[in-house]
Amino acid sequence: MSIYDLTKEQLEEYFIKNDSKKFHADQLFNWLYEKRINSWDEITNLKKEMISKLREDFSIDKLKIVNIEKDIDVNKYLFELADKEHIEAVLMRHDYGNSICISSQVGCNMGCKFCESGRRKKVRNLKTSEMVLQIMQIEEELGERISHVVVMGIGEPFDNYDNLINMFKIINDPKGLAIGARHITVSTCGLIPKVKEFSNFPLQINLAVSLHAPTDELRNMIMPINKVYPLDELIKALKEYIKKTNRRLTFEYILLEGVNDSTKNAEELANLIKGMNAYVNLIPYNQTENIEFKRTSTIQIMRFYDILKKNKINITIRKEFGSKISAACGQLRSKKEEQ
Ligand code: SAH
Repeated sequence: MSIYDLTKEQLEEYFIKNDSKKFHADQLFNWLYEKRINSWDEITNLKKEMISKLREDFSIDKLKIVNIEKDIDVNKYLFELADKEHIEAVLMRHDYGNSICISSQVGCNMGCKFCESGRRKKVRNLKTSEMVLQIMQIEEELGERISHVVVMGIGEPFDNYDNLINMFKIINDPKGLAIGARHITVSTCGLIPKVKEFSNFPLQINLAVSLHAPTDELRNMIMPINKVYPLDELIKALKEYIKKTNRRLTFEYILLEGVNDSTKNAEELANLIKGMNAYVNLIPYNQTENIEFKRTSTIQIMRFYDILKKNKINITIRKEFGSKISAACGQLRSKKEEQ
């Protein structure tokens, strides 16, 4: 097990179980997340026996960064995990700070037709440590703090729920990476039972839902998960989530030419979500060589946008990063594995 898998609470339990004091968890968090040590030998304020015990029980290894592609406002990192699997994370520079998009699984089982990551079936869930370390190591590589985190890389985060929640606890901990909950967003394709569970999670983390279609007929075609959790049930669960948490929701909607981008689709979308405390983030499709979907023209994107505006839906168009450096979900990993 990695030491970066443990929340502070779990570490407190560990110290108590080993006849030691709870406050050592705070000290150890300070070594790991503030001082950023790379070896157990650097710790000076714990007993030798305690350090030996930690060394026996946990690994302190970090991930391997095997490739970095850099552009003006975006860096893309390819990580190699201990079992030689690869995952990617993307750093984006905004005027409000640095945000990072991290992966939650190796591969993905959701099978969305337009998505590069979904072409490769899930190999395994990422451990909590493997999510935390993506953030830490990019901070270290940059020599800058990361202020915002989105879990929108490879994988379905709600299909790896427990590890995800522990990662949130660690990165939000003031003694951990101290990233404010409101600066963290998790994106799901709509696993209803987990949406319900997440509405009881006390941190004010933002939820984004990949909607991408306003009717079951269309959504079944491009997102197979819709056959398990159809739209009316999903929207009902999301309304309950909003009521319970009082948080605003984001709907992601990729525009695919001739598939889900018509004027009629825009009206249907407006009807589906009107009255909800939510906004729509329209995403210009990032075309990849391996998938036949086409990006909607800018003029049609504007038409779609206008219809939603007219229907009083809050809406934004996603700023695009990194189309030059294969930043579409899963592209870097695909390139690596196909070499
Ligand atoms: N499984 C989660 C999170 C990972 S995908 C989810 O479905 O939300 C993150 C977002 O990127 C999703 O909205 C997904 O639909 C979108 N996406 C996938 N491939 C894309 C592409 N080629 N261009 C633009 N967005 C894409």
